[in-house]
Amino acid sequence: MAGLNHKDMNSNNKYVLLKDIITKGPISRIELSKTTGLSKMTVTAIVNEYIKKNIIWECSEAKSTGGRKRTNLDVSNDSLLTMGIYIGRDFLQVGIINLKGQILQTENISLKEIKSNEMLIDSIFMLSDKLIQSRYKDNIWGIGVSCAGPLLVSDGIILNPPDFNNVHELNIVEILKDRYNLPVYLQNDMCVAALAEVYFGENREIDNFIYIGISSGIGGGVIINKKLFTGSSGLAGIIGHSIVEMNGIPCECGQRGCLEKYSSTRAVTKWVKEQGGGDLSWIELLNKAAKEDKICLKAIERMADYLGVAICNMQSAYDTDCFIIGGDLNSYQDMVIDRLKDKMQESSFFNERKNKVQLKPSTFMASASFIGTVALVMENNLTNY
Ligand SMILES: [Zn+2]
Repeated sequence: MAGLNHKDMNSNNKYVLLKDIITKGPISRIELSKTTGLSKMTVTAIVNEYIKKNIIWECSEAKSTGGRKRTNLDVSNDSLLTMGIYIGRDFLQVGIINLKGQILQTENISLKEIKSNEMLIDSIFMLSDKLIQSRYKDNIWGIGVSCAGPLLVSDGIILNPPDFNNVHELNIVEILKDRYNLPVYLQNDMCVAALAEVYFGENREIDNFIYIGISSGIGGGVIINKKLFTGSSGLAGIIGHSIVEMNGIPCECGQRGCLEKYSSTRAVTKWVKEQGGGDLSWIELLNKAAKEDKICLKAIERMADYLGVAICNMQSAYDTDCFIIGGDLNSYQDMVIDRLKDKMQESSFFNERKNKVQLKPSTFMASASFIGTVALVMENNLTNY
């Protein structure tokens, strides 16, 4: 652990203050002093600096509780814009997002034809070049890249995600920095989704939570004191490879019985096929479950049961306040979450805290990994403004 010199302390104060204005605004200077623990003098000095730079503005008068009225502060929505790049398995999304998490412009293309690093980079350049020349260009303060792992985040490299169009060992951060001359940050798509919840989610008042994203794979993001915790080697949230069945189904990671082999959309459709329920897509499976198809309903219950085991394991490791469930659950999020709640009530581990640990649906579901790119840039850039 290292101490902070004056310059770093000032940067950290700026980060804490602006993050509170973004996540809690409109908010008065006095409230900010309470939420950040900074003195009123420090708050006033930093606020004045941000107002001068047009990053925040005095937006309204707060209700007076007797005495002087307080002026509320909020961020100027479009003062600092992020170019967000989400590299999914099937499609690429590039867009401009403002400090409120609102998407101003976006385009996506299918990645079905992509066969190499070069082809992926060409596609990213094609979409990004247009945005970088758009009317937003002068306000873009950074680029956030969200991609399935494994990644080497500290070096900005996409390593070798499975089933990923032959994309591997791609130094994406350096390539984008060279072309656009802007700060570029890379992070795992599920960690980025967790950051979207921290900044813009309906449950952003919760300090500690674990985000779980369920799609063809399963990933997670661990949030401690509203900051992303990635662990010593960036693997803190890989809930998809937590073991839920000893000697279970072999996984590509080398272990057996990983959660991903039981509760990912791919695993659930495979199970339905094995049970004689037909070769269904995930959406078809959900639609059949909605019509009370027995095998499909059982498949969703089984999925939730295994998720419950993994959640109990994560809870015993992290002692968090909440699990936020997102990804491709569509209208089934409530059903899965209700089933998980039952599972947690059964678990003796949760008995003492069962009324405290919350389970919530993601605010953004499938778009969290794109919207979160703005939060990724903010987490890295805020200390410099
Ligand atoms: Zn595994």
